[in-house]
Amino acid sequence: MIGYNKEIPEILPLLPVSDSVIFPRMIVPLVIDSDDQRHLPEESMAKDKLFVVSLAKNSAEDEGESDDIYRIGTLVQILKLSRSDDNLMVVVQGIARMEITEMVSRSPYLTARVKVLDDIEQTGRDIDAMNANIMGLVNRIVEAMNLPRELADIARSIDQPGLLADIVASSIHLPKAGKQKILESLDIRERLEKLIEILSEQITLHEMGQQIQDKVKKGIDRTQREYHLREQLKAIQNELGTEEEENPDADGLPAKIAEKNLPEHARAAAEKEARRLERMHPSSAEYTVSQTYIEWILDLPWMEATEDNLDLEKAAQVLDRHHYNLEKVKRRILEYLAVRKLNPDHKGTILCFAGPPGTGKTSLGRSIAEAMGRRFVRVSLGGVKDEAEIRGHRRTYVGALPGRIIQQMARAGSNNPVFMLDEIDKLGNDFRGDPSSALLEVLDPEQNHSFSDHYLDLEFDLSGVIFLATANQLDTIPAPLRDRMEVLELSGYTEDEKLTIAQKFLVPRQIREHGLTSRNLTFRKTGLRKIVREQTREAGLRNLEREIGAVCRVVAKRVAGGETARTVVSTDNMRDFLGNPRYSMDLAERTAVPGVATGMAWTPAGGDILFVEATMMPGATSLVLTGQLGDIMKESAQAALSYLRTRAPSLGIEEDFYKNHDLHIHVPAGAIPKDGPSAGVTMLTALASLLTCRPVKPKLAMTGEVTLRGNVLPVGGIKDKLLAASRSGISQVIIPQGNRYDIDELPENVRKKMTVHLVDRMDEVLKLALESQKKASCS
Ligand code: ADP
Repeated sequence: MIGYNKEIPEILPLLPVSDSVIFPRMIVPLVIDSDDQRHLPEESMAKDKLFVVSLAKNSAEDEGESDDIYRIGTLVQILKLSRSDDNLMVVVQGIARMEITEMVSRSPYLTARVKVLDDIEQTGRDIDAMNANIMGLVNRIVEAMNLPRELADIARSIDQPGLLADIVASSIHLPKAGKQKILESLDIRERLEKLIEILSEQITLHEMGQQIQDKVKKGIDRTQREYHLREQLKAIQNELGTEEEENPDADGLPAKIAEKNLPEHARAAAEKEARRLERMHPSSAEYTVSQTYIEWILDLPWMEATEDNLDLEKAAQVLDRHHYNLEKVKRRILEYLAVRKLNPDHKGTILCFAGPPGTGKTSLGRSIAEAMGRRFVRVSLGGVKDEAEIRGHRRTYVGALPGRIIQQMARAGSNNPVFMLDEIDKLGNDFRGDPSSALLEVLDPEQNHSFSDHYLDLEFDLSGVIFLATANQLDTIPAPLRDRMEVLELSGYTEDEKLTIAQKFLVPRQIREHGLTSRNLTFRKTGLRKIVREQTREAGLRNLEREIGAVCRVVAKRVAGGETARTVVSTDNMRDFLGNPRYSMDLAERTAVPGVATGMAWTPAGGDILFVEATMMPGATSLVLTGQLGDIMKESAQAALSYLRTRAPSLGIEEDFYKNHDLHIHVPAGAIPKDGPSAGVTMLTALASLLTCRPVKPKLAMTGEVTLRGNVLPVGGIKDKLLAASRSGISQVIIPQGNRYDIDELPENVRKKMTVHLVDRMDEVLKLALESQKKASCS
C-alpha cells in the first residue's frame, strides 16, 4: 500500500464514477454535481477522508445498482474539497486497488465491504523487454498525439514496472474499459502485456485516423486547387473580355445524334465522342476538337439521297438550253445518261471534259446534275500536292479538317451528287504523298463504297456519287487516273461561234445578272465582234463574258443614276466602255520585214500564234537562241540552220553566209517557256527569209517539224492551232501532209475561210511562204 500506513476499515463508502479510472498514487480531481452524491465526500471528509471509487459499467443513472459497478476499484483519500453553488470538487489521491466483496448499504450513499488487493510482483528479462517496449510506444504516442515531452521523461525515470504501467495508463487518453483492465491486472506481467496491447491498438488507430485525414485533406486540397484555378481562369477571361460560356450546343449534341439518320458505325463513333465530351471542360481545347468532330459527322449526308428524275428528252433540252453546238459532247452525255437510266447501278466510266479554259466544261457538269435532278458540287484539284488535301488530316493534328472530298459531300447535303473534279491535270505530287492514289480510291467503284477519310476515321459510302472530271491537257494526268476516264474533248471556239454564244447566252445572262433588261442595253453584232477581236484572244469564253460584264456594270451604274435611255453598244462606242484594244491584228506590220515568220503553237489554254524572229550580225559564227526555248526547240533550230547551209546555193543564199556572223533567233512572249519540235518549220522559214531577204507573206502561219534533210513531219494540236490562227486573222496555213485528216475536225466556217496547204518538204514551205520580191532595204 502506497503512502498510507493507517488501518483500512473493512466497510467503506463507495462512489461510482462514470468517466475515470483512478490508479494508486495518482492525484485526480472529481467533480460531483449530483445532490445525492454530495453527502459521501462531505461525510468522509469529516471522518477518515477515505472512500472507494469504482467505474460504473453503463451510464451514471444506474449508478445505484451494484451489478453495474466494476468489482475492482480504487481506495482514495481526499486531499482537498471545495464547494461551489452547483457542484463539489474533490481532489483525491489513489492509495490501493480494492475489491468490492459485498454491498452493505445504499442510503444515503453506497457502502461496501472491501478488501485491499496487492500487486503480484514479477521480474525477469521479459519484464524488462516489455518495459522497454512500453517506453518505445510511449515515445511514439507522445510524438503522434503531440503530448508533452515530460510524459516520456517521467516514464523513463520510473523503475517499477507496475507503477510505470499505472502512470502511463492514467496519463494517456485510453478507453475506459482498457484502463479498467489495467486496474484489474494484479499480476505485473499481465498488466504490462495488456498495456502494450492497448497502446499498440491506440497507435494503429491513430495512424489509421491520420491516413484517413490525409486522404480527405488531399481530396479537399485538389477540389480547392481546381476551384482556385477556375476562379483565376474566370478572372482572366473577364479581363480579356471573353465571356465564359457554357457551350449550349454540347448539351444538344446527344439529342441531335439520336435524331440524325446515321449508319451504325457512325452512330457508335458519334455517341462515343459525345460521352467523352461530357467529361471535358468546355473551355479546354480538346472540347472544341471533339465537338467539331461530332458536328462533322452530323453534317454529312450518310443516308440522305436525292431521287433521280431522269427524262432523256428533258436532259437534251437542259443541255441545249445552256450550250450552243457541242453536238458530239452532248450526244455522248445523253448516251451516258441513258445507260444510267436503264441500269442505275452501272458504275461505268467517268467522263472527263478536256479542253481550254472557258469552253463550257463546268457548265456541262452543272447541266448533267440539273438534268438528273441531282445536286452539283465541285472541287478544284489545281496545285493539290498533298494526299491530306484529298483525304484529310488525322484528328491529332491541330486544326485538322476532313479532306476536300468529304467537305464537298457535306456541302452537297446528299450522298449522290454530281461531283466535278476540276483541273485533274494539275494534280501534283511530292514528299507529302501522292494525291492521285487517294483519288483513284475515290473513283474506283470497287472501293469507293468505303472511302476512308483520315479525319473522319469512318468509312463513307461514295458509290452513289457521279464523278466527272475536267482537264486542260491530257498528258499530265497520271496514267492510272486517265485509264479510268473517258475523255470528251472540247476545243476552242471560232470567232463566229463566240459571237453566236455571246448573243444567245452570255449577253442575256450578263444583262439579267446585272439587274438590267434589253430596254436598258443591247449589243450590236458588229460591236460584239469588235470586243471579241480587240479585247480577247482566247479559245474559250471567259474573258469575253468578263468584258460583256464590264459593259453591263457601266450601264447599270448609269441606270441606277436615273438614266432611262437605252444604251446600244456598237463598233463606234465600244471603246468608250472597254478602253483601248488589248490585242491588235498587227500581222502585216510584224511580218513586213524579212526574218519574221508566223508560227502556230498549242498551249493548255488552246492554241495561239507566235512570231519567230531571226537576225544576223557580224560575230564569231554562232547561233544564239532566246525566248525561253527548251532543248528540243533549240535542236530544231540547229537542224534548220544545218539544212539551210546545205541548201544555200539553190535558195540563192551566199554559201558562206554564216562565216564571221552570229545568227540570232528569238521567239517573243519571252516569259512563257516554249518547247517541242513543231516550230522547226517556222524557224527555218524565218532564217530563210532573213538570208534571202524575202519577207514572209503576212496572213500566213505554219507549223511542223523539220528533219535535217528538209522533210516536214506531222505535229499535234492541229485543230486548236488552226482555230487560234483563224481567230487571229490568218487566212493561209501551212501544215504537214501527215496532218491532213485533222482538217476534217475543223468547223465548216473555218475551213471555208482559210486556205490550208499540206506540205511534205521544206522546199514547198519556202516556195509558199516567201514573197517572191526581195526587200530593197535588206542588202
Ligand atoms: P470551263 O469549265 O471549261 O473553264 P465554263 O463552263 O466555266 O468553262 O464556261 C465559261 C463560260 O462560258 C460559262 O459562262 C459557260 O456558260 C459559257 N459557255 C461555254 N461554252 C458554252 C457553249 N457552248 N454555249 C453556251 N455557253 C457556253
